[in-house]
Amino acid sequence: MRTPHRASIRASRAPPRVRFPSTDETGVLTMVHLMLVQKRNLTPKLILVASALILGFLLASCHRTTATRPVTKQVVVLGFDGADPKLAAKWIAEGKLPNLARLAAQGSFKPLETTNPPESPVAWASFATGLNPGGTGIFDFLKRDPQTYLPELALVSRQKGKFLWGMVPVRMPKVTNERSGVPFYKAVADAGYKTTVIRMPLEFPPTALPGGKLWAGLGVPDLRGTWGTFFYFSSDLTQWDVGDTEFGGKLVRLELNDNHATSMVEGPVDPTKEKFTRLSIPISFRVSPDGQSVTVELQGQTATLHEHQWSNWFHARFRVNPFLTLSSICQFYILQASPDLRVYMSPLNLDPEKPPIPMSSPADYTSELVKKHGPVKTLGWWHDTWALNEERIDEGVFLEDCWRTMDQWRDITLDELKNDPPSLLVSVSTATDSVSHMFFRLLDPTHPRYDADLAAKYGDAVEKTYERMDDAVGQIMRAMKPEGTLIIVSDHGFHSWRKGFNTNTWLAENGFMTLKEPGAAEQPKNLDQLFGQGSFFPNTDWSRTQAYAVGLGQIYLNLIGREKSGAVHSGPEAEAILKAIHDRLLAVRDPDTHEPVIQNVYYGKEIFHGGRMSDAPELQVDFRDGYRTSWQTSLGAVPPGIVVANLKKWSGDHCASDPSDTQGIFFSNQRVGALHPSILDIAPTVLKLLSVPPPAQLDGNALETSSGALSQP
Ligand SMILES: [Zn+2]
Repeated sequence: MRTPHRASIRASRAPPRVRFPSTDETGVLTMVHLMLVQKRNLTPKLILVASALILGFLLASCHRTTATRPVTKQVVVLGFDGADPKLAAKWIAEGKLPNLARLAAQGSFKPLETTNPPESPVAWASFATGLNPGGTGIFDFLKRDPQTYLPELALVSRQKGKFLWGMVPVRMPKVTNERSGVPFYKAVADAGYKTTVIRMPLEFPPTALPGGKLWAGLGVPDLRGTWGTFFYFSSDLTQWDVGDTEFGGKLVRLELNDNHATSMVEGPVDPTKEKFTRLSIPISFRVSPDGQSVTVELQGQTATLHEHQWSNWFHARFRVNPFLTLSSICQFYILQASPDLRVYMSPLNLDPEKPPIPMSSPADYTSELVKKHGPVKTLGWWHDTWALNEERIDEGVFLEDCWRTMDQWRDITLDELKNDPPSLLVSVSTATDSVSHMFFRLLDPTHPRYDADLAAKYGDAVEKTYERMDDAVGQIMRAMKPEGTLIIVSDHGFHSWRKGFNTNTWLAENGFMTLKEPGAAEQPKNLDQLFGQGSFFPNTDWSRTQAYAVGLGQIYLNLIGREKSGAVHSGPEAEAILKAIHDRLLAVRDPDTHEPVIQNVYYGKEIFHGGRMSDAPELQVDFRDGYRTSWQTSLGAVPPGIVVANLKKWSGDHCASDPSDTQGIFFSNQRVGALHPSILDIAPTVLKLLSVPPPAQLDGNALETSSGALSQP
């Protein structure tokens, strides 16, 4: 159930203003997204019709509205994804985070209770709406379709359109943000306050803010429809290496001929083809005779780059037909020029100046950002953790890109505060999360991927990222209105992740899942199959399976009447199975240490409540420090072994940890009385600070804050 539109707030608090259509309402632009990410049978004529509609939409979007209230009060909410209170406290005590130290001394610093699971989409959805996951409908990155057992991204749903004679759209296809509830910044903007929201997770398609600006973050796909596919072009690959990596990469073999190699960039799915085919564009590389530099050529754009040099942004345009071109931007880094040529290419970010589907509201806000700040990455997953995890770039390249992106985020945030100050600014950086995921192994000598040499060089990467966070906080505080309220939050904390748990294998070995061919060797799965054409659970005999795991910590019953091949009756049978799984999971011991692996197993109906319970898992499995659902389980595989070492550089995690030891951070320049503030409290607190009534009954409570703000430094 969706929370109804809060027409009453708008009617009572704001005068009529020019209507700005949201992408949700029109559905027109979402069609292009569907064309991007789904195979569809669209004729050129239909695309012409669609293109005309899109043009009309873009013209309509030129009507801007303005906020009606003067900017007197100011509330600034900064989000630092994954910032951990224990690490922050440690580095504050060591004098490394002076701005946060000042907030802690004169305002507030507390751990922030988070959602179960403490996972970014889940927690940011609750942050925005003040609702628990049972109300937001976001329980994980993934949800499952009980009719197919296939996982789907939980953040958006797609509805196919209907077309008369295969041409005239009678029902527009639609992409819908699956998060239920009204975000607090929407309620604030509806009440006439000028509102700016930067890189907000789960805002795709973006919420229209009357008189405000919103740029969507986590959840925006790349042009291939994935969460970020990097490319690795190299002459050191054999024909057996090429193809999709386990997570998020495309390996392309180059054959050098007289120092010259040509290849193809495989882009979005061709929406006009019945068969799943991707559009490609040619690319070429020419190594200089001295082997010191490489000239990259793509669609008439060239750059001559030395080893270890980044290119500027290139445009990569994929022409569907004379009426439709899908435009993206990408960047190159020369890993090696000779004797082997090795080139990294970033994911194909949707073009911020010519977005195939808007990533902001108004739709041209991303284009305005480019005019002021140069090209901006638009991909939701902002930092290329996948290329480092697949070991195609090294730590230094990753950090250089990550910190440059973080600095641009800071500059954009500062620019908004200084040059177009809003009443409410919400801005989220994800660098703290990405660096922690990739570098926790260098903080943990017991991690399987601890490396003393690398630790000497990059062991301070997380700390340096926190120092950048602290520096940004200091600059933002100085740019705020003197009496403004500053709130800083993270969505969760962090753990070292040393070992993975194969949940489906455990279910199979304990008789809750039956395999057609027990012991059959299964091909390892990769992420491209998750977004592409993979088959899930091909070896599962559903008629004799009671439960299955999808996502990072969710277990679902195979219920008769709900699942396609349900085998469990609701009622006493279901309850008994759940209790058996619950009890036996808690008894699981690590075969090496004989320690428990799982901290808690929760019954979904006990921890979630609200209008979206039909999507809730029956069980939520939360692991002890050091453990998480394995990589292959997260891709729907049933590999051999139950507890397996995590041999990836992605070595810190939180996604299936217990919320009781995975809190986020809460800082404010106000003194806050609550001993245990929760991420659910942020929405009601901001609404109260701006005297805006909550749009619905919220699960969180407004925090009591002191009236005085810190003096400006
Ligand atoms: Zn994370």
